[in-house]
Amino acid sequence: MDIEREQNRVIPQKCPVCGAQRDSLSYVPIGNNNEQTIVHISCAKCAGAAMIFVSQNDTGMMTVGVLTDTTPTEARAFFDSNIISDNDVIAVHDYLDTFDGYASDMF
Ligand SMILES: [Zn+2]
Repeated sequence: MDIEREQNRVIPQKCPVCGAQRDSLSYVPIGNNNEQTIVHISCAKCAGAAMIFVSQNDTGMMTVGVLTDTTPTEARAFFDSNIISDNDVIAVHDYLDTFDGYASDMF
């Protein structure tokens, strides 16, 4: 599978807000690893913006898009500051391992 071609196929080619064509859009990659790509799309015509999350594995590719009011720089800073570390995952696992109660009590 040609990953880049597949990503181009699933990443919107029109503005999700006003429908402007691709030449009005700016695509900025925010994050990328083997299984996920995050792209910030902004539109020169309407100033709308969206975050596109592309996930892929052996079974296929899935795209989720959400509208945003962030710039690409703000979006990148947001994701950089919200990285979930291995220690965070272990802490949640340990908490749930010893938790004895209703899920609603956790929050
Ligand atoms: Zn637009």
